[in-house]
Amino acid sequence: MLRHLRDAGPRSRARIAVETGLNKGTVSSLVAELVERGLAREGAIERDGAVGRPAQSVELDGRRIGGIGVEINVDYLTVLVLDLRNSVVVEYRVALDVQALSAAAVLDSVTELAVRALGECARLGMTPIGMTLAVPALVDVDAGVVAFAPNLHWRQVEVVRGVIDRLSARTGVRPAFPIKVDNDANLAALGEYAMGGIAGASDLVYLTGETGVGGGVIVGGRLLRGAEGFSGEVGHIPLDQSGHDCGCGRRGCWETMVGLAGLFRMAAEGNDPVRDPSLDLDQRLDMVRGRAEAGETRTLDALARVGTALGLGASVLVNVFNPRALVLGGYFASLGAYLLGPVMRELRARVMAPDVGGCRVELSRLGFTAAARGGAHVAFESVLDDPTVVAVPSPAR
Ligand SMILES: [Zn+2]
Repeated sequence: MLRHLRDAGPRSRARIAVETGLNKGTVSSLVAELVERGLAREGAIERDGAVGRPAQSVELDGRRIGGIGVEINVDYLTVLVLDLRNSVVVEYRVALDVQALSAAAVLDSVTELAVRALGECARLGMTPIGMTLAVPALVDVDAGVVAFAPNLHWRQVEVVRGVIDRLSARTGVRPAFPIKVDNDANLAALGEYAMGGIAGASDLVYLTGETGVGGGVIVGGRLLRGAEGFSGEVGHIPLDQSGHDCGCGRRGCWETMVGLAGLFRMAAEGNDPVRDPSLDLDQRLDMVRGRAEAGETRTLDALARVGTALGLGASVLVNVFNPRALVLGGYFASLGAYLLGPVMRELRARVMAPDVGGCRVELSRLGFTAAARGGAHVAFESVLDDPTVVAVPSPAR
């Protein structure tokens, strides 16, 4: 019933009974229990249908619990806390040159940010319910291990154990909530599906525009994971056999043409501040945008080349999956004004189905927060499966 309230929105007990097939008495007692645990509350008076009697609606509350999403990427760390209604209550992002650090040092920084977020949750009276780390990597989700993250230079990093150990050492207690790690594009796709501009589009392809380019594919409302959980490595589709070396050790992968490193390489010389990884990514992208707006030829050429290559690779995905929406995330969204034209031109030319198979190209409104939001969102799964994991608050003394 909690899941139904989240997915379907506020509604009366009578309507919940009809929609779930539970009898009214059961619905009323379940609502009472959810209210007691701070997961639901009484909403506005609503009329059920045109002729129905006015009834009190029930809606999600969830201000008492927080889902934590963490994103580890090449240039930054993000920690973000959502409440059960998917509102952001805490958000920190720090610039970090992850490639220059050991995995252990990066996990130390993750722990610092997580401790700050947990302190803020405590101040707000929120109980942390779960934490999901998003990493641009092949991830063994069950083992909690990053198998291979080419752009972070990580192999076989025990992320979940590392974070649990560090949080335990910092706070003196083992975290009481589950901690997981997953691929960033998968989590971002789930974030878009749950709360993005195309929320509810049950067939969508999400692309991360970062140093690496990953794909999260949702088919029929389900995330496509593949036999071993390693699907969606779209950044390594070989599109340019004579092209640049890729972080994965191969040559000419799609992400060498459209990833951030490719954009910066085409747009600026090596000593240009645009290519300085110690600067905040937004700052560097603002410089690129500023130059494009000023009509600087090299920048505009670079963006046009990225847009064309983005459309070329996207046409492969649209031909394979026939998605309702192709969502461009990360920097593809922030510089979308310069990329959409060439992307659409390539899609129209290369997708077999008429009218690009009904696929819309959307710029992510969640931007660089999509993966952390998706991670925080899926952290609520344990509560949706069993709301009794949230304790009934003891009466105030
Ligand atoms: Zn590659």
